[in-house]
Amino acid sequence: MKTAITGFPRVGELRELKFVTEQYFRNEISEKELIEQGKKIREKHWRLLKEKTIDFIPSGDFSFFDTTLDTAVLLNIIPKKYSELNVTALEKYFALARGYQGDAGDVTALAMKKWFNTNYHYMVPEIDDETDIKLVGDKLFTEYQEAKALGIETKPTLIGPFTLLKLATYHGQKKAADFSTVIIAAYKEIIKKLAELDCQWVQIDEPALVLDLSETDKTFFVGLYKELLSEKKMLSIQLQTYFGDLRDVYQEVIALPFDGIGLDFIEGRKNLALVEEYGFPKATLLFAGVVNGKNIWKNNYEKTLELVKELQTKAEVVLNTSCSLLHVPFTLENELELSHQVKRHFSFAVEKLTELNELKKILQDEEDGSFLQDNMTLLAETRFHKNQAVEENIRSLKESDFIRQAPLSERVLVQAKALNLPVLPTTTIGSFPQTKEVKQNRAKFKKNEISEEEYNTFNKEKIAECVKFQEKIGLDVLVHGEFERNDMVEYFGERLEGYLFTKRAWVQSYGTRCVKPPIIWGDISRSEPMTVAYSTYAQSLTTKPMKGMLTGPVTILNWSFPREDISLKAATMQLALAIQEEVLDLEANGIKIIQIDEAALREKLPLRQTDWHSEYLDWAIPAFRLVHSKVQPTTQIHTHMCYSEFSDIIQEIEDMDADVISFEASRSNLTILETLKAINFQTQVGPGVYDIHSPRVPSVTELKETIENILINVPKERVWINPDCGLKTRGIPETEASLVNMVKAVKKVRGEI
Ligand code: GLN
Ligand code: ZN
Repeated sequence: MKTAITGFPRVGELRELKFVTEQYFRNEISEKELIEQGKKIREKHWRLLKEKTIDFIPSGDFSFFDTTLDTAVLLNIIPKKYSELNVTALEKYFALARGYQGDAGDVTALAMKKWFNTNYHYMVPEIDDETDIKLVGDKLFTEYQEAKALGIETKPTLIGPFTLLKLATYHGQKKAADFSTVIIAAYKEIIKKLAELDCQWVQIDEPALVLDLSETDKTFFVGLYKELLSEKKMLSIQLQTYFGDLRDVYQEVIALPFDGIGLDFIEGRKNLALVEEYGFPKATLLFAGVVNGKNIWKNNYEKTLELVKELQTKAEVVLNTSCSLLHVPFTLENELELSHQVKRHFSFAVEKLTELNELKKILQDEEDGSFLQDNMTLLAETRFHKNQAVEENIRSLKESDFIRQAPLSERVLVQAKALNLPVLPTTTIGSFPQTKEVKQNRAKFKKNEISEEEYNTFNKEKIAECVKFQEKIGLDVLVHGEFERNDMVEYFGERLEGYLFTKRAWVQSYGTRCVKPPIIWGDISRSEPMTVAYSTYAQSLTTKPMKGMLTGPVTILNWSFPREDISLKAATMQLALAIQEEVLDLEANGIKIIQIDEAALREKLPLRQTDWHSEYLDWAIPAFRLVHSKVQPTTQIHTHMCYSEFSDIIQEIEDMDADVISFEASRSNLTILETLKAINFQTQVGPGVYDIHSPRVPSVTELKETIENILINVPKERVWINPDCGLKTRGIPETEASLVNMVKAVKKVRGEI
């Protein structure tokens, strides 16, 4: 019996990679130093995996930004505007990831999208008719050799051709199928090169196989791999899938001569049935994803062993994680403040390695039975705290609780009167730059180095500054800046009953950005107002409307680690009721516009369209409505979403019944606008007019063009102007310059200047 993992959290135990990369971005360290640090981090991780006796240790799962981008770069999928930049290879790589503005030129970044049903984001490869797919990079090979030099044999991993071509966007006439010959040749060369290095196994990730597949998709996949696997075997090839099951393509997959096939038995609900019904090829290893790569709870050994034993009747099993451990925090060991009582129920990446190991020992009869016994005893404990009152409130919800009384068409009129805003109102999404001082203030308060009063005074000063700036440049609807918030979910988690927090349980979201999802530990309730004090203070400084700023229940849920004993729906409704109380308190305290962010609405949308409504949208959309259904018609409800493809759920978004929706749009070339036009979308919209994930400052001309472009598709009465998302990750200079340009551009369009 052997153990494997699909991938490891590359950001490092204490986010080392994040910090060095950001130092490099700020020009505080050289490129050489960054590369050196990356190498150190890889070494540390490989040694750790070795020490934990993982048999198949991955390489190639390290990345300075994103592994999909790494694979694209490896294969020369680099649009001309980047390849033409006269900068170093690493600078080019970061130009693709974050845009570039400097002596060598001015380019925006590639689009970024959510990685399947996770909160990780990948860079979308861009292909045009000139794209010349061929093996040009060496990252995969050097990292393999690097590990080898340490005496560690690894299994290089990379994104497979099917998923890569499926996720790419195409800007010319050519489509995925036109690249099959060249991409097969490139992957063959990768395999050949790895074999020359004496590499034993390669793991090719094809998560796109768990999506809804058409006949054409299936034929394309089979065609690619028939060719790819046709040559005399030089090394063992593992096809790795995750986040779902292979119901559309299982028979085709097992008919191909893979040496290993990785199946996810956690989210892949039908995988077991598929193996049982159609069998599994004798000579192939089954990399069975039985340790959850996404949750943080201890594995249920009894259940897992039963599953593995069943699988062993069909195949030779390797114990694997269900997906890369990228999606869980690094280790519990640094959670010094969590009690042992609580902690022993959790398992982060490093602890999951131990679980793999223990399961292996149990299966090989190499222990005295205590592993299973201890696990069973632990799991038999009640680990979640219940609150009778909350459960009663949920039970007594009526249909009418989910419906706002005045219809949108009526609300538009009363709100126009009440708010008296100009055409194309300008606003921002909420947060302003979280500078060093802002973070330091919070850190000092958390460490008890300053009093609560000092902490609040500082935040109030920042709010006052922020309000002044917004007034000065002429924004119409203001925000307080969210200086008191570490994170849009954790902030609420910390103020709600039923949550637990970690100190260092960071999970990578994109590039150097990490989030620290709070843990739902019991029934959720609100004991006191969470945002009213800062919002009313901010409103007191201005006569312009100040937006109250909340996070919606679906996003809070999706960015928390959920319980496993109640449904996601039940947990979301609890959150919705708590946020509803906050909405009503804001309203009662004179806040006229309330933004309820649902940045992560799409995140748990099932990967298969047939499950969308029954498993998710049918409760997620009502949960959002529950939050705002009781406000007055004059109170304007905004919502915000980021990095979502949502043309396919546009009707459901309209059904959220918000008054205004802002969303990320600039990086996806505003394609969403056509959909809005096509369905005659009634909710007012604020399509982001510039990308905030890049330090680039958009020019007035460029912004004006974008606005005009929006107005071709959406009537001006329904358009708001705002950036893509919150500004907290940006620096002050570029934020101010960009907003000044944005307001100027709007004024030009309005004909005011
Ligand atoms: N209001 C939040 C902010 O501005 C929204 C963030 C988000 O959508 N991710 O930071
Ligand atoms: Zn956003």
